[in-house]
Amino acid sequence: MTTVEDLRAYRFALDLTPAQEESVRQHAGAARWAYNHALAAKFAALDARQAAITTATAAGIDPKTAAADAPKIPTKPVIQKALNATKGDERTGVDGDCPWWWRCSTYTFQSAFADADAAWKNWLDSLTGKRAGRRVGRPRFKRKHRSRDAFRIHHDVTHPTIRPDTGYRRIIIPRLGSLRVHESTKRLQRAIERGAVIQSVTISRGGHRWYASILVKAPAPEVAARPTRRQRAAGTIGVDVGVHHLAALSNGTIIDNPRHLTTARTRLTKAQRALSRTQKGSNRRRRAAATVSRRHHEVTQRRATTLHTLTKQLATSWATVAVEDLNVAGMTSSAAGTIDNPGRNVAAKAGLNQAILDVAPAELRRQLTYKTRWYGSTLAICDRWFPSSQTCSACGAKTKLRLSDRVFRCAACGFGPIDRDTNAAINIATHAVAVTPGTEETQNARRATPGTPPRVGTTPAAAMKREDHTQPGAVTSAEQSTDHPKHADQQSLPLVS
Ligand SMILES: [Zn+2]
Repeated sequence: MTTVEDLRAYRFALDLTPAQEESVRQHAGAARWAYNHALAAKFAALDARQAAITTATAAGIDPKTAAADAPKIPTKPVIQKALNATKGDERTGVDGDCPWWWRCSTYTFQSAFADADAAWKNWLDSLTGKRAGRRVGRPRFKRKHRSRDAFRIHHDVTHPTIRPDTGYRRIIIPRLGSLRVHESTKRLQRAIERGAVIQSVTISRGGHRWYASILVKAPAPEVAARPTRRQRAAGTIGVDVGVHHLAALSNGTIIDNPRHLTTARTRLTKAQRALSRTQKGSNRRRRAAATVSRRHHEVTQRRATTLHTLTKQLATSWATVAVEDLNVAGMTSSAAGTIDNPGRNVAAKAGLNQAILDVAPAELRRQLTYKTRWYGSTLAICDRWFPSSQTCSACGAKTKLRLSDRVFRCAACGFGPIDRDTNAAINIATHAVAVTPGTEETQNARRATPGTPPRVGTTPAAAMKREDHTQPGAVTSAEQSTDHPKHADQQSLPLVS
């Protein structure tokens, strides 16, 4: 069985020639076209199917029989076969649905059809309750300039088409040729030498750059990674993901939001203001929009680098990393309320939402899940209803705290003053339960108090449903388990004070 942990993505920024960039754009366009084509075929079939069922049941046919006889929704093989007959070919002057198809890799079409199948299935499963987690909506058509420019090409194992070129600076991709990459492919090549097999490459645009993310399947390690002596000596670290800081650790370290993130945000705001002053349809507007997109990308990239650095340091420096089980969907829900029952402090809550999302707690958790595995440490989760901020980390008594109170002082035992987030981090370290059972941390960690009331704004049932979505086992997209080793090695955050 393939586990998610066996898959790893290597992401490279590409330095494309103008001709290559043109081809890459064409491929992204073809992927969007193919996805929309597949969706259109599905929706048309759905209409035909519903009409047929209605007609049949009106004629007195049993609904079950009517549904069985009605036309089916086509999936990838059917759609592909139908398109082969109607696609045309501009080289021979035959008009059709996409006479330009030969310019792009056939895998681009296949991947897009597979994506449409997945989106369709997620929608139906969500409707019928088969799929847990957040509601998945009706699949939408991808619009140029609105949707992400990306396409995927699969690797043919029997006839390796995607491979590093000689040297460490190029990769070969079918139809696109040898592309120069901005970083060294040394790590990827080492992984391949150790037996890893390339699965696919996803090429996508971020801001003004194009990236290639190469997904490889690594052979399962014979011996699971174990904590080093240094990690074992360090023990457990509690991490409180903050609104005011990036994170607070149970050893008293406060990691502030890096300045470059704030700088990038300021630049983004400036670009957005410039965009709003331009006229619709003007050349200046097009240029201003490109700048906004570029600035957005910078924020994303910098945040990603910071998070990767933090999670790697946490996973390599301690035997157990304890985090709170955050309900991000509930925490960041709008406070606007309804017309009859308007919410209070809407603007304040919106600002808080942005701050919470800026730290990306779900992403931190996701990275820790796989990095603790890689580096032999254990991930421990603290129950989401445990009031980590309100509890005294010395005596366990509860003290009411407002969000504006930055310092914790225990009313019962006089403990403190201590930074409220440090206090929370210590509680998280004490109360977290290891995700992988059987380790000594599991026995040491206490279970969080059951039956503690849910946080404001969520019902326990709704939260439980969401939880399925974010559980460690539910990480389905290995595509995103990208490490940024280059950055992670280059800089470090002051974790130990
Ligand atoms: Zn106390």
